[in-house]
Amino acid sequence: MRVLIVACGAYVSEGYGCPGEWKCLKAAADKEGHFSEYDEAKVVGFLNCECPGRTLISNIKCVKKNVDFDVVHFSTCTVNAWPGCPYMDIDELAKKIENTFGVKVVKGTHQYG
Ligand code: SF4
Repeated sequence: MRVLIVACGAYVSEGYGCPGEWKCLKAAADKEGHFSEYDEAKVVGFLNCECPGRTLISNIKCVKKNVDFDVVHFSTCTVNAWPGCPYMDIDELAKKIENTFGVKVVKGTHQYG
């Protein structure tokens, strides 16, 4: 499974208990967390959203031009962040990505603490 991970850049840049993308990448490499059902989880891209999120869809299009992916995963921190994104509803965003790119969006990556 070719995976594009999408993360909340505002959250990631704060580094709350997660050095960079480490937890997402480890879970994919070890097929843990939300990747556990895949035969293989090949991360082909890691895209950080930037507030207020207007560029996200076009940036995913940019990724798609260069590398294909079968599934998009929202990083666990993006899904569980509190307070959540003040600009977008995460479920609505997932649907928009699914409709635009014809791929499933999974809400989460790892389940580490
Ligand atoms: S728009 Fe929302 S999801 Fe995107 S970086 Fe800002 S807070 Fe995070």
